[in-house]
Amino acid sequence: MNFHTGHQVTKRRISTMEALTMSAVATDTICERCGFRESTYEFNCRSREWWVLCPRCGYSEDCKQVSRLSNGRVEESVLTYIYPAGAYSAVWADSGVAEVGGLSETQIEKAAARMRADIASGKLSPESYVTRYCYDSGEVTALVGQVPTVSQPDDGHEN
Ligand SMILES: [Zn+2]
Repeated sequence: MNFHTGHQVTKRRISTMEALTMSAVATDTICERCGFRESTYEFNCRSREWWVLCPRCGYSEDCKQVSRLSNGRVEESVLTYIYPAGAYSAVWADSGVAEVGGLSETQIEKAAARMRADIASGKLSPESYVTRYCYDSGEVTALVGQVPTVSQPDDGHEN
């Protein structure tokens, strides 16, 4: 089973030790496209690279360092904005590991069909999903499973 298609990032819960080893910081941010408040922002403290991924609509930003000066400082970086047709979250039934990413229009139906089969066979957990973003209305609908909703109550401190 392989959901590796186009741009995507593997997202999983990491232990504090892993987080310290990788020197990465992950937090929630608001999706620029659909407004989902639990979009993921991850910053790598060593490489100074970062990415954003919305698990609801698939919107993502990816900042990569292109070159560095001799003192190690970043000389040039490239920021890529990605507006895919939808998103997916494949949650493996045995490990509970979730792989989240964006899908292009040509990938979306294929991914949905494969996910339905993998949920039916028990390979993937029923909490897995495939969504589609409507460019006209801005709405997100689910082809498989449920459109993700905010899990934490609004704490009133967001900008
Ligand atoms: Zn979004």
